[in-house]
Amino acid sequence: MISSHRLPPPPSALRGRIVVAAVAVGAFAAAGAGQAMQAAAGDSKDVQLANHAGGAATFDGMGGDTASAPQILAVSKTTSEGSAEAAKLLRSQQLTTQRDAAEAEKKRPKFVRPAAGEFTSGYGGRWGTMHLGIDIAGPIGTPILAASDGRVIEAGPASGFGLWVRIEHADGTITVYGHMDSFNVREGQVVKAGEQIARMGNRGFSTGSHLHFEVWNPGGQKINPLTWLNARGVTV
Ligand SMILES: [Zn+2]
Repeated sequence: MISSHRLPPPPSALRGRIVVAAVAVGAFAAAGAGQAMQAAAGDSKDVQLANHAGGAATFDGMGGDTASAPQILAVSKTTSEGSAEAAKLLRSQQLTTQRDAAEAEKKRPKFVRPAAGEFTSGYGGRWGTMHLGIDIAGPIGTPILAASDGRVIEAGPASGFGLWVRIEHADGTITVYGHMDSFNVREGQVVKAGEQIARMGNRGFSTGSHLHFEVWNPGGQKINPLTWLNARGVTV
């Protein structure tokens, strides 16, 4: 569209600037610098030239060196078309970025296994008491991951757990991670499924490095984490 506008030959002294300005405008468009583009289009003659030079063919083969400034200024209408074109391009780039982000968001897992390792103990009766979570054993330092998106409501020492992290999820479910060697989140922090929150350890009432993982339903009951995970497509 730009190349359909024919220009009179520019003064040779300006040609270097035209090329430089064209590169600059190209950079603005590529960087999506909408404000810079807007500001630039508002004032300078260089940018008016640059918008045309953006269709580089416009100047091809022109050897004139006597054109006067008024001839160059006469192209202001085309300049606004060029700006509109650049704005359109910018908008379409932004839409593409948003669409890519939305697709990536749709594709990413919303529930994950909270740690790699060996499933060593399930939920239910054990040694005459109730075991209200599941255990996954692995070397000290094994990453512990948020099982789902949520907000950290507690991270610190807890009786029996040594250290624990509790994460509240959108529906009110709370996941609990215990015995870790260290944690790297703080209360109030928003985390995504699969994000590392801690490292496996052997603190508290524990007989070997493992993760003790619990799921509290919105009513506060400690439910079977395996059932909860399986129902969300996660096997342990
Ligand atoms: Zn346990």
